Amino acid sequence: MTTATEFIRIHVYYHDDVSASTRRIVPRNYLKDCITELERVARRPFVIEYKHSIPGVTDIEYQGGDPRHALNRWISAALGYQDRHIRASERIQRYLLVTQQSINDEVLGIAQAPGGCAIASLTNYQTIAHELGHTFGMRHEDAELHHNAFGLECATYGYPEQGGLRSNCYQYSIKNRENMARYFAQYVD
Ligand SMILES: [Zn+2]
Repeated sequence: MTTATEFIRIHVYYHDDVSASTRRIVPRNYLKDCITELERVARRPFVIEYKHSIPGVTDIEYQGGDPRHALNRWISAALGYQDRHIRASERIQRYLLVTQQSINDEVLGIAQAPGGCAIASLTNYQTIAHELGHTFGMRHEDAELHHNAFGLECATYGYPEQGGLRSNCYQYSIKNRENMARYFAQYVD
């Protein structure tokens, strides 16, 4: 028996500190490569919805203090908004807060791993992919350093530390693709 293809829905909320001109480049420059790869791993299409300028949601404090507290504030803001306004029926949904600044000098993003909510800054091109990956079961331990087509060392999305001269691979490691495929397989019925 065949079933209708089920979508995976990503709700992208731009924090109020992300300008309108920056919002226009995020889909192409920060999201496209990782979503293409996640669709292959999940074997399901993703739908992405963008939201901004929502009082009480896109203006939460995310800097200063323990990053886990910022994540907790985001979880309650996002899930509270979801209860009141979102009627989507997909079993897998993600609530991603995109911020202009990092949470602090060392922490560029934070996520429920796995889980529904994440915060990712635009400080590095791979942070959105990194935090979304965590929500689907990606692990730091299974990240790798590769060499890209130009012979330069690059970090896969799961790699936890920023290297000064290291470039981005713009892909998940094979093991992390397997980790995420196992996560998505729970939702196959
Ligand atoms: Zn991480």
